[in-house]
Amino acid sequence: MAKSPDKCSFCGRSKRETRMLIAGLEGHICDSCVQQAQIILQEELATEKRKDVPDFLLIKPIEIKKYLDQFVIGQDEAKKVISVAVYNHYKRLSHAKEAKEDDVEIEKSNIVIVGETGTGKTLLARTVAKMLHVPFCIADATALTEAGYVGEDVESILSRLLQVADYNVAAAERGIIFIDEIDKIARKGDNPSITRDVSGEGVQQALLKMLEGAIVNVPPQGGRKHPEQKMIQINTQNILFITGGAFDGIEKKISSRLQTNKIGYKADRKHENVDKDHILEYITPVDLKAFGLIPELVGRLPIVTYMHTLDQATLRRILTEPKNSLIRQYTKLFELDNIKVVFDEDALNFIVQKAIEFKLGARGLRSILEGIMNDAMFELPSKSNIKSFHVTATFVEEKFRKTSMARLKVA
Ligand code: ADP
Repeated sequence: MAKSPDKCSFCGRSKRETRMLIAGLEGHICDSCVQQAQIILQEELATEKRKDVPDFLLIKPIEIKKYLDQFVIGQDEAKKVISVAVYNHYKRLSHAKEAKEDDVEIEKSNIVIVGETGTGKTLLARTVAKMLHVPFCIADATALTEAGYVGEDVESILSRLLQVADYNVAAAERGIIFIDEIDKIARKGDNPSITRDVSGEGVQQALLKMLEGAIVNVPPQGGRKHPEQKMIQINTQNILFITGGAFDGIEKKISSRLQTNKIGYKADRKHENVDKDHILEYITPVDLKAFGLIPELVGRLPIVTYMHTLDQATLRRILTEPKNSLIRQYTKLFELDNIKVVFDEDALNFIVQKAIEFKLGARGLRSILEGIMNDAMFELPSKSNIKSFHVTATFVEEKFRKTSMARLKVA
């Protein structure tokens, strides 16, 4: 390449025609050629990635649970069940690579987590994905519709996973999808012939093939707005689906089943002393069916677990114990302004108390703290003489009284 002092060696534009001309040893390159080269590079790298089969970490259940313990407080049963299911799922994937024709085929272990909103279902699924370094996305079952109706196609969930995987199809095919509010697409009423709820049941039908494992044509950008776009094929066979829902009122179904069982099988000792406050512990797939999930869908979600309602002690732990707990986050934020913040135990207890009073669960902790800390976050960074900040119960109570939340209570 001949070096011409005032011309781009790639496109030939003169210096005047460019915004910038960068000199190299043998030539020059202009700003638009740099941009063009960047696009080519990205496209090439994306194609390369598609061929890559990324490895995932196969971690043993006890280690999985230990990892989850750092982020999710309590919920030991759910963490154990999920650790085993996730381990088996990824073991199944590594087994599939070596399996011979006549080998035992290990079935997929999609999961249902039953529990009130804000008890950590999404957090649990997200944390598992983070640990395994696999792509993860969240979908809301209530936004889904059958193909062809207004709303979101079931396929759009896969588009999202593909985007998260940076268009690496092989990575997406081993990802985790969390489908929230799965209970909201339940058929209303147990008897399909009496109350047929077409939309819910239709979505359940649409989910079936994806949960089981199918090759699905996915629009890369999602939605049906660009009919001309090229479809990408995704095999969902190795995607792990974790679904969650509050299943309001399912306790009644469980109780009535346990009652019937008691009469039928007196010897079933496990159910003799049913703890009425923890009825969810007895949940089985049968109850999901009674709630209105179609049998085929229940069949494709073989692992069923539950989350406890968060009590005062758990909420208190959530404030400080997780690796990225709210208090640690606030401490860090102040630390970045060279301010050492200390929270009194009474102040923390007050926050927990309010979250319970307002029935806000763990999500409430954040909104309450935001309200309380906002003035300090606004003023302190400008006060260079302040090096420490003591958050007392009196401070917290006073600030809380001024928040919109406190006014709600008065009204
Ligand atoms: P769900 O999916 O059950 O509605 P989320 O997982 O979205 O609930 O929880 C909402 C927020 O509450 C999370 O971001 C997290 O900060 C907090 N949280 C809820 N449960 C727990 C828990 N068991 N341990 C730690 N944090 C929790």
